[in-house]
Amino acid sequence: MVELRKVECPSEKVEIKCPYAMTPTRIVIHNTANDASAANEIAYMLSNNKETSFHFAVDDKEIVQGIPLNRNAWHAGDGNGKGNREGIAIEICYSKSGGERFEAAQRNAAELTAKLLADYGWGIDKVTKHSDYANKHCPHRTLDDYGWDNFLNLVKGFMGAETAPEPTPTQSKPDVVYQIWDDVENSWLPNVKNDSDYAGIFGHDVCAVFANLSRGNIFYKVHYKGGKWLPEVKNRADYAGLFNRPIDGLMMKTDAGTQIHYRVHLRRLGKWLPWVTGYSESDNNNGYAGILGQEIDGIQIKF
Ligand SMILES: [Zn+2]
Repeated sequence: MVELRKVECPSEKVEIKCPYAMTPTRIVIHNTANDASAANEIAYMLSNNKETSFHFAVDDKEIVQGIPLNRNAWHAGDGNGKGNREGIAIEICYSKSGGERFEAAQRNAAELTAKLLADYGWGIDKVTKHSDYANKHCPHRTLDDYGWDNFLNLVKGFMGAETAPEPTPTQSKPDVVYQIWDDVENSWLPNVKNDSDYAGIFGHDVCAVFANLSRGNIFYKVHYKGGKWLPEVKNRADYAGLFNRPIDGLMMKTDAGTQIHYRVHLRRLGKWLPWVTGYSESDNNNGYAGILGQEIDGIQIKF
């Protein structure tokens, strides 16, 4: 952020410029409709005897504060309404002529606004404009040239991730494609995509698993009946299993950033076990799919 410089309101002006204590509840954005710098706007505001005042003036080089944030200012044209009595006023300089100086000032004002929102723990809904309070077309150039929503987006761009979660890119979930080795057919069965079907033929033991994702990596391993967990396999670098050994446990995880779910069908019990999401040999509840000692005759995987 550009430098923020505070100028003290002379004590003899307090009654005119900021007579009331204030607990701010909002920010009110203005355009100066002038071509003076922030320093000059504040100097002029504090030197005259008009009941017109604002907390900040922002130009392309700096931010100048002339009224403390715990005092009110007269800027919103709503008398003793919420604009004047609860609003932090930000004047964006150089709006009369516009151009690069104004655009830089507007950007700096957006950054100041974002900082104030963070300081007070406020959301973007606390950013208001002069015309919300009075029949005045202000901030005129921001409204006319830039658009209010664009200004709010500019502010959001300066807000931290905690206060303004970026809309998560609408990236679709990856697909998981998988197949199994069937001990009766003595071959790989056709690939299955997600949970559109399951891989396996009920009554035939599954001996090995092959899987990959449309995006990201999948890691998996199987336990074979009467034996042990076999080494972890990544994608289709290898398959998991032994062609002549029925599997009775399956573990899967991915780095795709979205949770994988998998389940198995037990041949002798003739039923699906619940979906599993974990990856742990020691957690027989959610760490792997299967019941050791029970042959698997179907598997299903989805995100
Ligand atoms: Zn205004």
